Amino acid sequence: MRYISTRDPAHTATLGGAILRGLAPDGGLYVPESFPALPPDALGGARTLAGVAERLLAPFFAGDALAGELPAICAEAFTFPVPLRDLREHTAVLELFHGPTAAFKDVGARFLAAVLSRIAGDDADARPLTILVATSGDTGGAVAAAFHGRPGVEVGVLYPAGMVSPRQEKQLTAWGGNVRAFAVRGAFDDCQRLVKAAMGDPGLRASRRLSSANSINVGRLLPQMAYYAWASTEYRRRHGVDAGFIVPSGNVGNATAALWAMRMGMPVREVVMATNANPALTAFTGGAAWAAHPTVSTLATAMDVGSPSNMERILALYGGEAAARGALRAERVDDAGIRRVIGEGPARWGEVWDPHTATAVAARERIGGEHWIVVSTAHPAKFEGVVEPLIGRTVEIPPELRRLLDHPSHAEPLEPTLDALRAALSMPAPA
Ligand SMILES: *Cc1c(COP(=O)(O)O)cnc(C)c1O
Repeated sequence: MRYISTRDPAHTATLGGAILRGLAPDGGLYVPESFPALPPDALGGARTLAGVAERLLAPFFAGDALAGELPAICAEAFTFPVPLRDLREHTAVLELFHGPTAAFKDVGARFLAAVLSRIAGDDADARPLTILVATSGDTGGAVAAAFHGRPGVEVGVLYPAGMVSPRQEKQLTAWGGNVRAFAVRGAFDDCQRLVKAAMGDPGLRASRRLSSANSINVGRLLPQMAYYAWASTEYRRRHGVDAGFIVPSGNVGNATAALWAMRMGMPVREVVMATNANPALTAFTGGAAWAAHPTVSTLATAMDVGSPSNMERILALYGGEAAARGALRAERVDDAGIRRVIGEGPARWGEVWDPHTATAVAARERIGGEHWIVVSTAHPAKFEGVVEPLIGRTVEIPPELRRLLDHPSHAEPLEPTLDALRAALSMPAPA
């Protein structure tokens, strides 16, 4: 399988090349050149997530130097359960938050780490591999957790000082070892700008290989197809019908993976993107041309995205705006709706929802109908400041998160300049 840029298909890469590079040279995003149709029985009756992933992803690794490693990569990445729980009213919830940082980004980050550490071990290039990631909260923690302790790989997490929640900060700074956390004096945009500048800096590149683990890396999207394949076949096995997925969406990577799985013939009836108050997706599905909007701050912070970058992949999948608009559905939920759904969750569904999952539940309540799988992207204990006052009790912290919260923190303050980042990277981490 070759990977092509969404902007110009003449820019091609191997799987390993696309993952190492992150972004195509023309600024486009890498996508698989094709999506081979896979009848459900091609999954060979695999019932574990790792087993499904191995079969589903085989065509995307075909012909690549990493192909022989796919089973080991899947075994390493899919180590935590992804339960599909039936609730009432022909509605199920797919819980993606049982990984080390209690959010779905653990899946993509662990898969990416398993792939990149194998590329780093490739002895053709002896320079160390440094992964830089800019984060406004969740991504950095998942990437740090996934790479922590891997030989031959260093991680630099850049986050805006004072602008992430205390529990999020803990997930960025509790690692040590090969993971360094930089508290940047600036905003998330400064962190992103620094990572981009570092990636293009000849001085830094001379001494090390640099890669970025942000959400546009195709190595994070591919494994996310696996849980859609697994959950959709499992739902059909249990209930004899195809379910639709409702996906809490920000940068729309997770929804893209669902649409890719559907394109491969998995038994997915439809995919609904649930957003917070950020209007880009609903404006588009409502008939407007695709356009970026200013970012709106909401209770579902990880979905505060004004210009969802993976939309470029969705437009490429459908071949343009008109076709995409005809195929997509989006539902927008404001903070009042999020609060209402969280507050009513225990009585209405018997569940405590986090603010992101609550957008999908609100969409489910609004749409009605039957056979929906609500995708749950985070554990409510990560957002206790929002959730606990609304349900009037504390949320129990899952053991993985507890372990992390008990670790000491290490963060290095960083001025928002490339010079400062270059200097910091040239020194070993302070003990
Ligand atoms: C990142 C994130 C989302 C949004 O996912 P996208 O792939 O960016 O659409 C939703 N919920 C949580 C908890 C997240 O961390």
